[in-house]
Amino acid sequence: MAIDLVKAGKGLEAAEKLHNLYTDILQLNINFTSVLDENRRLKEELADKARLKEIETDLEFADDGHFLVRKSEQGEAVRPYCPTCWAIDQKLVHMSRHKLPGTFQCAVHEPVYYTKVYEDWKRRQDEQRRQQRNQSRSNYPVGPWS
Ligand SMILES: [Zn+2]
Repeated sequence: MAIDLVKAGKGLEAAEKLHNLYTDILQLNINFTSVLDENRRLKEELADKARLKEIETDLEFADDGHFLVRKSEQGEAVRPYCPTCWAIDQKLVHMSRHKLPGTFQCAVHEPVYYTKVYEDWKRRQDEQRRQQRNQSRSNYPVGPWS
């Protein structure tokens, strides 16, 4: 021990041993802190993976629209999530309504997702236009230029 060395008249040797001891303690403290940081980081990573796994099991691919929906949100209004954002970044990005009925678009990605509501609306629109065209043709007499 350092005290024994001091009593034996070897103060310089005692000081050197104490210095080495403090250096070792300081290094242990640094190592302990880095182990704690690594442990905290790994716990957060594990929690993130568990959270992603929980979300993934809650997601399902909607045949109508070809986007993702959450099973836990069924029964509510359709809340579509971008399948591309999920596939690439594991981010759950809610898509907003696009300008046409039954269409949705991701704020990050350009493609528009079309649902059956859109297809029905489009079919009705096409039918109305066709009827209007036929109606306007019948209002004019058929002549050699028609
Ligand atoms: Zn997206």
